[in-house]
Amino acid sequence: MVRRFRGNMNGEQYLGNTSTTEVHDLDNEDTAGNGCQIDEIIAAGNDKPFTSLTQAHSAGYDNCAKCLGDSQR
Ligand SMILES: [Zn+2]
Repeated sequence: MVRRFRGNMNGEQYLGNTSTTEVHDLDNEDTAGNGCQIDEIIAAGNDKPFTSLTQAHSAGYDNCAKCLGDSQR
């Protein structure tokens, strides 16, 4: 669980997946094989940085069930 400085990320705590419109908390990342798959999201170019969860929610993103919980979908 580390913040990223690759792709579109520059150390922000939250990463949105533009493909699934789910947001992940990099300080609480699930690194299991079936977890958040942050590196795969960045490799696919689907990473969108957010500095706050409120900002992500305002943009229409839903919580990842693994690192944030309380998914609304
Ligand atoms: Zn996640």
